[in-house]
Amino acid sequence: MKIQLTNTLTRRKEPFEPTDPKRVTMYVCGPTVYNVAHIGNARPPVVFDVLFRLLRHVYGESAVIYARNYTDIDDKIINASIERGVPIDEITRGVERIFDEDMGALNVMTPTLRPRATENVGGMVAVIEKLIAKGAAYAVPSGVYFSVAADEDYGKLSGRSQDELKAGARVEGEDDKRHPSDFALWKAAKPGEPSWEASFGAGRPGWHIECSAMIEDQLGSPIDIHGGGIDLIFPHHENEIAQSESAHGHALARVWMHNGFLTMDATKMSKSLGNIITPRELLEQGWQGETLRWALLSAHYKAPLDWSEELMKQAQASLDRLYGALLRLKDVTAAEAEAPVAIVDAIADDLNTPAAIAELSALATAANIAKKPAEMAKAKGELLAAAKLFGILQSDPEHWFRAAFGEQAAEIDRLVAERVAARAAKNYAESDRLRDELAARGVEVMDGASGSTWRRKG
Ligand code: AMP
Ligand code: ZN
Repeated sequence: MKIQLTNTLTRRKEPFEPTDPKRVTMYVCGPTVYNVAHIGNARPPVVFDVLFRLLRHVYGESAVIYARNYTDIDDKIINASIERGVPIDEITRGVERIFDEDMGALNVMTPTLRPRATENVGGMVAVIEKLIAKGAAYAVPSGVYFSVAADEDYGKLSGRSQDELKAGARVEGEDDKRHPSDFALWKAAKPGEPSWEASFGAGRPGWHIECSAMIEDQLGSPIDIHGGGIDLIFPHHENEIAQSESAHGHALARVWMHNGFLTMDATKMSKSLGNIITPRELLEQGWQGETLRWALLSAHYKAPLDWSEELMKQAQASLDRLYGALLRLKDVTAAEAEAPVAIVDAIADDLNTPAAIAELSALATAANIAKKPAEMAKAKGELLAAAKLFGILQSDPEHWFRAAFGEQAAEIDRLVAERVAARAAKNYAESDRLRDELAARGVEVMDGASGSTWRRKG
């Protein structure tokens, strides 16, 4: 099995070889938990969930260690706490819970480790001490800064030169740093803000050092894969590399992967622009979690993806087709099956999810035309195994179609039962009338050997 991944560091698609196939390590920058995540924020967790599933499939379920953090201390969180008059913990724990629920609805598997920044400050202080001792960082009254000039290959991930970086703007309150592109490792304590004691003065960690330290403490470097959205390449990941490599003398991560933006009307979805829609709102509108997941995976992860109602409708129609195939085979016991090679190969080819979607569609076709019992059992087994790798078809098919109709489902059940009774009584006029009434409600009835089932009309 050959996995190929595009490495932002080398700007090439490369064969992936973990350092230790018995312990494959991946870290993805998680949410800053001050505000409910929007559907764009869900793209990295969903994309890297597909990679997590692939790695588990290839190296074994217990061989992959995937960490995704919660950034639960940050300027934005402190500001939100002050503005809303709510304690920081209440905000961060509440947003974390909603994030976890939303990810659950999108069938995102729980990562192996979910470290919180505030519970790993000791490790951050240790890295900063090391950097000061090596002359790569310096303490001034406003905090501790990383000295970019002391790091020869600074800029290698983003491809920015030191000259370009000189143009970097100053951040208010950092006037005592020595160089405009130096960045804060530690922000000196301010009244009313949370702070931790440290040999270089009380304060709180900067965002970049949080990830560097959590990677070191939770996984140990170098890790195999580090991921996040494309906006994190600079400065966040560039700075993670600078800190960790200067402190430890070896690479932080071997492969760096970045997903493209989710846009709306071609503009990046972002909290600061206000053009956001959250998974929660979409679920409340009646869209199903798997539909959102499918829509997020319908484009290659590196490409931009424009979010629209049309995109969700297409995703829903594709999933309906797969669930329709399962509904047809509902009385067939699935054969034990591995995910077919074609879908594994598609995902292993730099997470080519559009190609994987085409394979899933082909499996649904096979399931729809299978006639012999053994063929039907095999088709169902393969479809389910492929779906597990992709993270879909986790609902019972009848439940899938019922859920889409909400409170109307019971009424539809009643009409379907009446129609079955009309047919049994050979009252075909009534049975046809009921079929038309159901059709008018967007329902298609499927008559089978063991009774009648229904689905949303395609
Ligand atoms: P944030 O909470 O803004 O730090 O973002 C959390 C994650 O979501 C990061 O990996 C970002 O790169 C990613 N992200 C934010 N906005 C988008 C977007 N519009 N499309 C895709 N990824 C995004
Ligand atoms: Zn990070």
